[in-house]
Amino acid sequence: MMESALTARDRVGMQDFVLLENHTSEVAFIENLRKRFKENLIYTYIGSVLVSMNPYKDLEIYTKQHMDRYRGVNFYEVSPHIYAVADNAYRSMRTERRDQCILISGESGAGKTEASKKVLQYYAITCPASEHVQTVKDRLLQSNPVLEAFGNAKTLRNDNSSRFGKYMDIQFDFKGAPVGGHIINYLLEKSRVVHQSHGERNFHIFYQLIEGGEDDLLRRLGLEKNAQQYQYLVKGNCPKVSSINDRNDWKIVRKALSVIGFTDDEVEELLNIIASVLHLGNVQYGGEDSGSAYITTETQIKYLARLLGVDGTVLKEALTHKKIIAKGEELMSPLNQEQAASARDALSKAIYGRTFTWLVNKINGSLAFKVWTRSNASVIGLLDIYGFEVFQNNSFEQFCINYCNEKLQQLFIELTLKSEQEEYEAEGITWEPVQYFNNKIICDLVEEKFKGIISILDEECLRPGDASDITFLEKLENTVGGHAHFLTHKLADGKTRKIMGREEFRLIHYAGEVNYNVNGFLDKNNDLLFRNLKSIYLSIWLLAKLMEILMSKEPSYVRCIKPNDAKQAGRFDEVLIRHQVKYLGLMENLRVRRAGFAYRRRYETFLQRYKSLCPDTWPNWDGRLVDGVSTLVKHLGYKPEEYKLGRLYSKIQCTRTTKLQSSWKGY
Ligand code: ATP
Ligand code: MG
Repeated sequence: MMESALTARDRVGMQDFVLLENHTSEVAFIENLRKRFKENLIYTYIGSVLVSMNPYKDLEIYTKQHMDRYRGVNFYEVSPHIYAVADNAYRSMRTERRDQCILISGESGAGKTEASKKVLQYYAITCPASEHVQTVKDRLLQSNPVLEAFGNAKTLRNDNSSRFGKYMDIQFDFKGAPVGGHIINYLLEKSRVVHQSHGERNFHIFYQLIEGGEDDLLRRLGLEKNAQQYQYLVKGNCPKVSSINDRNDWKIVRKALSVIGFTDDEVEELLNIIASVLHLGNVQYGGEDSGSAYITTETQIKYLARLLGVDGTVLKEALTHKKIIAKGEELMSPLNQEQAASARDALSKAIYGRTFTWLVNKINGSLAFKVWTRSNASVIGLLDIYGFEVFQNNSFEQFCINYCNEKLQQLFIELTLKSEQEEYEAEGITWEPVQYFNNKIICDLVEEKFKGIISILDEECLRPGDASDITFLEKLENTVGGHAHFLTHKLADGKTRKIMGREEFRLIHYAGEVNYNVNGFLDKNNDLLFRNLKSIYLSIWLLAKLMEILMSKEPSYVRCIKPNDAKQAGRFDEVLIRHQVKYLGLMENLRVRRAGFAYRRRYETFLQRYKSLCPDTWPNWDGRLVDGVSTLVKHLGYKPEEYKLGRLYSKIQCTRTTKLQSSWKGY
């Protein structure tokens, strides 16, 4: 027997949260997610925003047939899918000639990178292609395994965690064929090269090379086929990961490098550097009576000298001394064991960081559209950004990442609200604006231009004398101490707040409270390489360039949710999910969407779909579309305040949808 539409809906939930009767209830929201998740329906809309749950298993929903189902159809007429978002962005780009961007957010392991790959695959398979375009499509797709090998790692949260942020432009010609691409990477977690927490690994490439590398390649690189031999690979005590096949992945990456256009010599050069990092990690020190460090591992120096093409003696000196300027003269001053080890690690991080940038530049060179002119082409951007991070101990890196998320949230709020308001204006419909929490106050607390935390940090870094992490913290207390979103252990009455450490400050982010330990803030901010990153990527890139890029495009949003911390299929951890719903601002998003008219359709689509509900419009309505819709909704008993007929986009907008829902079939 066929299940009635109503029972089916009861079982599988609503495909758009705005259609929930009890839309202000978080409980109802979570229940809807749960129902759908149970039925393997991982996608649900909030209006045009796609909420995506990580199923942690392969669902048969990414086939060519699925792609075909979403090509050129109306967004709301088929069940929610990442392909619908991809197709909608593509069509808007083609018909309105407006650049698009798809912003994917969510915490580590929520499925951002997978979602961005699905979008890329959708374009690679469904867009028109010529011979040249096929090469571009292949290169676009193959850039993923390469970037993941060098930029992703196994962490406690995700076996394939992206340890860098990525913004990718896909460029289309006037026929709608993908003709080029460009990638911008930022905030690579370089510290992972020299240290990994328990249960985590270094970047995949190291293990792939060791497990998969051919014997004579490894011989040339002086490497043994055993990851346990390398100090940089044993810190997390996590040699094997069941979901990862390093040997196989090596083959994939090696092939991808060729497809992208790396010559054999270039690949060898790249691997020389990767091997050098491993040898560097194995350089060990002894201590002279004077305290100066000397190197005890000659073999490593021999390999390093050969692989990096430098003189062994020079290398040894560089790894045990630092250059100082005394009385106008350059002198080499010896380092002690501890200092020498940290100089070695700093060198490894710097080498790896630069290699990653070089790799991205090479990929960009290979994706560059040769006869690119802006006038006849358009762009779809894909942003796969680190999620909000809260650890037991949070440092400068988390501060940067969380601030970045704070900015993106601001953009989300501004753009979703702004576009809603604009639409009502265009439609000639009056509405009551909704109150929402604007996190601008937190962004301003951090930002340079408002003399926020970043500018105080910079001032302390430049101040000669006794500047330290603690003086930085004191300065923060004196300048932003009274701010509603900032706390330290000191209370206004001079007493101490017990729950906070003396070296910590707390920021009340939109997503929750995070304590940051100031230990290392000055050093990390001062570190020249880091400083470049910070000033380029935070001050200039994040505050201006990324925002500028995104603001100039029409955004689509994908909000990813992770169902549990165990990386397991079928497990719905309500506490964890509720937390994400909160910090992704989904309830707020829904409120804004519902406050207006939640249900919108073009007149023709509306009539086509519901004409059977009214004898006057069935089987066909011959008059003006707007009159047909008006007849239909009146017949269904909608009161004048419950719907509005817009003018420009020929949409009907209803507040209550129960009467229509009885004929809803799509999930
Ligand atoms: P991070 O911030 O750590 O990079 P992420 O949000 O990019 O995390 P992904 O790497 O995309 O997370 O996803 C983590 C894992 O979850 C994937 O390796 C895959 O096993 C699984 N996964 C994610 N999305 C899907 C999906 N749509 N279908 C099946 N499995 C998925
Ligand atoms: Mg990722």
